[in-house]
Amino acid sequence: SGSTQPLLVLSDVRKTFGGVTALKGISFGVGAREVVGLIGPNGSGKSTCVNVISGALPPTQGQISLEGQRISGLPAHQVVARGLARTFQTTQLFGEFSALDNVLVGANVCQRQGLLAQMRGWRSARRDTADAQVRALELLEFTGLADERDVPARRLPVARQRLLMIACALASRSSVLLMDEPAAGMVASERRMLSALIRRLPRRNVSVMVIEHHMALIMEVCQRIVVLNFGEKIAEGTPAEIRANPAVIEAYLGH
Ligand code: ADP
Ligand code: MG
Repeated sequence: SGSTQPLLVLSDVRKTFGGVTALKGISFGVGAREVVGLIGPNGSGKSTCVNVISGALPPTQGQISLEGQRISGLPAHQVVARGLARTFQTTQLFGEFSALDNVLVGANVCQRQGLLAQMRGWRSARRDTADAQVRALELLEFTGLADERDVPARRLPVARQRLLMIACALASRSSVLLMDEPAAGMVASERRMLSALIRRLPRRNVSVMVIEHHMALIMEVCQRIVVLNFGEKIAEGTPAEIRANPAVIEAYLGH
């Protein structure tokens, strides 16, 4: 439904590290309100792909655009400011801050230049805007963390810290969310919660690109899946198409 113009577009993106070519010219798009999975064996270039999209690393070659504007080559904070947020495998929360305060920081991440600016933003959010509080509470509700609003982030179980990172990313009002292995370390019940959460994101006007080893999760949350192998895109299609793709089966069996 809605726009067919992809929000996020990668065109012939290449990334080399010295003699290693991690991405050999990757092209794909993520549409509005679409959940796209990025899968592939270990070392196939998935994390590198997330790193170049989010501005953590510059691509060696090729272009990345968000809502028609070039983002490749921009530093990470400017990429975030344009509406692309990222969750990390390892926690990037403020451990001593409550869940609620972490989300309030997330709401100000758009203007961030660094930690100091974030902290300033957090203070002004606390002081100035009842709106920000209402919205942060709604996001805690949405991610199933309302009861833990006052709990310091470091005291939450790792799986719930991951959900909190998603709430923080949503607070930044990003249009695209990149998730690198959000289900890592989760038990089945937590994965079910995560799966339900990801599937509700398009209704909030958020598009998702998710890297995940847990195939069942990828298959149930994604509309489309891109498969990497040795830095190349070897397949792209619906979950049903990907499951039946001989090149994909070969790539996974070969490892
Ligand atoms: P994946 O996330 O799919 O496991 P990565 O993107 O982490 O794969 O890695 C792809 C390839 O790039 C691997 O061969 C890896 O060793 C190499 N690579 C990734 N990051 C770096 C780096 N910072 N320096 C050198 N080589 C790297
Ligand atoms: Mg990786």
